[in-house]
Amino acid sequence: MATELRAAELTVLHAACLLDQGRCTRADTSMAKLFATEMVGRVTDQAVQNFGGMGLMEDMPIERLWRDARVERIWEGTSEIQRDIIGRDLVRPREH
Ligand SMILES: Cc1cc2nc3c(=O)[nH]c(=O)nc-3n(C[C@H](O)[C@H](O)[C@H](O)COP(=O)(O)OP(=O)(O)OC[C@H]3O[C@@H](n4cnc5c(N)ncnc54)[C@H](O)[C@@H]3O)c2cc1C
Repeated sequence: MATELRAAELTVLHAACLLDQGRCTRADTSMAKLFATEMVGRVTDQAVQNFGGMGLMEDMPIERLWRDARVERIWEGTSEIQRDIIGRDLVRPREH
């Protein structure tokens, strides 16, 4: 889980760095959004699993984090749309 968080953080920082340098592509930002939001789903799901039944109780914060994480794959561009953007960007002829 910590490794997944680190990987997502670095992917986002990589896109931000490219943006600062004026070299950021649509695929770079879509990869960051796709990976980070899919990661938060996996990590919160694992957190629920770690706590067993208690993880799903409303008096624990984990259930709320898991539920809130779900929307991240939908708003600001769904995962499917991010994949579409990445795919199109990768096959698009490069302008040199
Ligand atoms: C809690 C919440 C808050 C929101 N807040 C805002 C807000 O403040 N401002 C705002 O503008 N919007 C907001 N939205 C809307 C959000 O941006 C949309 O829900 C999101 O863009 C997805 O659009 P949709 O719900 O119409 O799904 P649809 O476009 O109907 O898509 C349904 C499914 O089909 C898939 N799909 C659609 N087209 C394709 C395609 N071409 N290829 C492959 N798969 C495809 C989608 O990925 C999705 O899985 C919010 C949504 C939620 C749930």
